[in-house]
Amino acid sequence: MVPRVVFGRGSFNQLSEILSLKRLNRNAPFIYLIDDVFKNNSWISSRISLSYDDEIIYVSTKDEPKTGQVDKLVEGIILKYKERPSGIIGIGGGSILDLAKAVSIMLTNKGESKEYQGWDLVKNSAIYHVGIPTISGTGAEVSRTAILTGPELKLGINSDYTPFDQVILDPELTKDVDKDQWFYTGMDCYIHCIESLNGTYLNEFSKTYGEKAFDLCKEIFLSDDLSSEESQDKLMMASWHGGMSIAYSQVGVAHALSYGLSYLLGVKHGIGNCLVFDHLEEYYPEGVAIFKEMKLKHNIQLPTGICANLTDREFDIMIGVALSLKPLWENALGKNWEKITSPEKLKALYKKI
Ligand code: NAD
Ligand code: ZN
Repeated sequence: MVPRVVFGRGSFNQLSEILSLKRLNRNAPFIYLIDDVFKNNSWISSRISLSYDDEIIYVSTKDEPKTGQVDKLVEGIILKYKERPSGIIGIGGGSILDLAKAVSIMLTNKGESKEYQGWDLVKNSAIYHVGIPTISGTGAEVSRTAILTGPELKLGINSDYTPFDQVILDPELTKDVDKDQWFYTGMDCYIHCIESLNGTYLNEFSKTYGEKAFDLCKEIFLSDDLSSEESQDKLMMASWHGGMSIAYSQVGVAHALSYGLSYLLGVKHGIGNCLVFDHLEEYYPEGVAIFKEMKLKHNIQLPTGICANLTDREFDIMIGVALSLKPLWENALGKNWEKITSPEKLKALYKKI
């Protein structure tokens, strides 16, 4: 679990004070990885106080994080500074948060980041890392994974060293998120809850968090009574609880298929989940019915024909990625999942997208 967290509108202003206690020495900088959507936005940068060799690196999130991108960032940092940084601070959505987690791990672990995609492969503690989400839904701020696309797989670095040492939850940072993106990333949280609450891995720990996040999502996406500030506050906490719920269970069918779409076509996580989930009545009937209600209420038009022109080989690649995620299928369908699902069934689902 994340050991330290502050919450509140304006809590981003506490960052300098929090970091001042963690500086190792003058030669050990703090490196800020920030979504480049904030590059010309002094509202964020003016509130960061840089000292000594501290550096801001703006990162594009056009594509989701890749293992090669992590390795390049780590190499750049090692070559540039005499000492290991005092810390890595990620400011952005799930893409930046995962990047920050992975970079902090790879600064203390040998080799390439692709070698650590999987479960519990990391040997040494990461350097101090702080996560500051600017869009709510993925739960990346609280999870024990840093999801990366590598040469062979889209798979997380899942380890006890992955979670942030400190998180700052300031819902005000999410105020300028575009409406469609708000919905897609918010639905990531909603789908985490549905997959966790309907999974065979469910336990009281996951259920407690999942039910709270599920109720918050229904309130945020279906009620007319919330102010935009209340909605931002609630979605940030829904994301946290949704992440906590899957931390001790698993996601399911929507995520498995969404990973296939993302690996082959670069479809981003939030929208990919929505594209898949829209067709999963067979697996999650009630969850999909509520999802369709939310989509209608916010007038969200999902793109169509994404898989229309794919070759058989391309379908096979996506199906291969989806089926390789065994824990997700076992959570969704039980120990006999291989008897319940089949490549043909997955192909039929992909063809609807
Ligand atoms: P994202 O980080 O890619 O951001 C989506 C878009 O929103 C980007 O264009 C970004 O520039 C913009 N944005 C972010 N904050 C903004 C703000 N305050 N104002 C205006 N625009 C803003 O999207 P995401 O949905 O948060 O994250 C997706 C990534 O998270 C994927 O790589 C996925 O694999 C990963 N993920 C990780 C976990 C985990 O537990 N580690 C869980 C789910 C998803
Ligand atoms: Zn997700």
